[in-house]
Amino acid sequence: MKLIKKIYCRAYQEGFRIAMPFLPYRKPLILHDVTELPALYRKQGCNKPFLVTDKSIIAHGLTDSLIEAFHKEKMDFELFDDTVANPTSDVIEEGVRRYKATGCDSLIGFGGGSSIDTAKAIGACIARPDKTLAQITGNLKVHKKLPYLSAIPTTAGTGSECTLAAIITDSKTHRKRAMNSFSLLPKCAVLDPKLTITLPPHLTSTTGVDAMTHAIEAYIGQSTTRETRAEALEAVKLVFGNVEKAYRNGADLEARANMLQAAYLAGDAFTKSYVGYVHAVAHSLGGQYNIPHGLANAVLLPIVLKEYGSCVWKKLHQIADYASLSKPTDSDEAAANTLIQAILDLNKRMNIPTKLEGIREEDLPVLTRNADKEGNPLYPVPTLWDAKQLEKIYRLVMK
Ligand SMILES: [Zn+2]
Repeated sequence: MKLIKKIYCRAYQEGFRIAMPFLPYRKPLILHDVTELPALYRKQGCNKPFLVTDKSIIAHGLTDSLIEAFHKEKMDFELFDDTVANPTSDVIEEGVRRYKATGCDSLIGFGGGSSIDTAKAIGACIARPDKTLAQITGNLKVHKKLPYLSAIPTTAGTGSECTLAAIITDSKTHRKRAMNSFSLLPKCAVLDPKLTITLPPHLTSTTGVDAMTHAIEAYIGQSTTRETRAEALEAVKLVFGNVEKAYRNGADLEARANMLQAAYLAGDAFTKSYVGYVHAVAHSLGGQYNIPHGLANAVLLPIVLKEYGSCVWKKLHQIADYASLSKPTDSDEAAANTLIQAILDLNKRMNIPTKLEGIREEDLPVLTRNADKEGNPLYPVPTLWDAKQLEKIYRLVMK
């Protein structure tokens, strides 16, 4: 990367770092039982929530207990089950139309990150009827208060229940863009492990490593605080200690609860301390080829950490020590390599591949450009890479 751009990126990130204590971060109210939600909505003065989910969540019966609780509370709601993986602008626009047509006054995102992000984006459109979806996508563009919004994750990974981001794919250009606004922070998060026990093993593993990616990228970045560092370390330790248990025995409620906690901590860490190039590259691949976010991150994480080189060894050593993978007396380089190898071994035991299929040579210019646009200047990465330098990561991960 050219020196002048480097200076610009670092100054931009430093501005956000200095502003961090003054920004309106808040934590959601946490519930651990989904059946408590209707009474909470009643208390908040809401009469008809718009329940955003997808068809497989309904087919697995995951919404049953919530729907029963709505009936018990004699509360009306509108079910919107059209969410797709990597939510598109088309689906969000349809959601907004249905929300208005059915007289809803509040929102619930129920499912993986896609359902929660869809609910956030619908809420943002409702809050800003004067703007198009494209106009409010980007950084700090929503400004207005959203209808009351809860997030109910059924995967333990995205952390979307406590972040101010919604990732949206433009239906026409296939570009994935983040909508980042403080008003997108959900008011309530339901961390109910019973809702995650039917999550299939391959989603348990990849979404779990996504949570680890959030934690590690937040930790090695240059905008951390004491709180986000502590959250990130704990999240990595929890993922190492629980993701494989949950992968092997989906009904292990303790492992499931620990994974929800890990995803939440990692989500809070990265919403303040950002992610890095693993996410920038993964989002470009999700937008172009619909490669699931968790899978892309899980495969990319060890590759990008290795490529960062010596500038991350010290921090990776701290993470490895906290996760009991290394000792303080080890060299930084050795401990960093131990951590990277532990991620590769964990991936292997959970059948996560080491390469991603379907990346086409002719798409590299657009992929690298999109990753460059997403990462620079926003992400306070350990070392700055431009599009040309990012291309190496695609070549390393291509089959
Ligand atoms: Zn992620």
